[in-house]
Amino acid sequence: MAAKVKKLMPRVVFNKLEKLYQEMQESYDQVAAEIDFTCHGCPDNCCNSFFRHHTRVEWAYFWKGLDECRPELRREIVKRAGEYVEQMQRDLSLGRDPLIMCPVNFDGWCVLYRHRLMICRLHGVPSTHTAPGGQSRDFPGCFRCREKTELLSHVPRVDRTRFYHQLAWLEQSYVGPRIVKMDKVNLTLAEMIVHGPPFK
Ligand code: SF4
Ligand code: SF4
Repeated sequence: MAAKVKKLMPRVVFNKLEKLYQEMQESYDQVAAEIDFTCHGCPDNCCNSFFRHHTRVEWAYFWKGLDECRPELRREIVKRAGEYVEQMQRDLSLGRDPLIMCPVNFDGWCVLYRHRLMICRLHGVPSTHTAPGGQSRDFPGCFRCREKTELLSHVPRVDRTRFYHQLAWLEQSYVGPRIVKMDKVNLTLAEMIVHGPPFK
């Protein structure tokens, strides 16, 4: 299946990825409005959550943003990412989940917001995903959102299904037929930064 998708120019794929991100944002905003939810006043900052990403296309698009940064900012982010990975490895070797601030978060703000990855974009509000076999999986949203929705009889959700499909298609269009021979991606953002872009 994957080999049948035609490889596209990175510029074309990135334009399509930006459109997909825009659709995610619209879907997120709609659900957030329905439950009257914002991050304003949150005592937490979920950018220290531990999660991994799975596509080279998002990895490359993130690096496009990093390449466009001022050199001193980029150097600082790369340094922070190295420290993140060291701490992450220590935590994992001790059997605990890392709780480390993302290297791109400065004083509570994402300095590469336009280039952040899908998981960053969909975290927060309730969502759902239906696998090809028909099984659905619901995600409750962050702790503040759960507090808002626990008494609702109907909880609106972002449907991640088509976003996952479109992202998988973009991944194949970006990588091309060689994707069938490549390892799956399973990296934190810090590891993606330390590694450099997926294709050099
Ligand atoms: S998504 Fe939730 S936990 Fe994260 S900053 Fe917003 S309100 Fe806070
Ligand atoms: S990339 Fe941005 S939004 Fe995502 S975890 Fe890092 S700082 Fe937060």
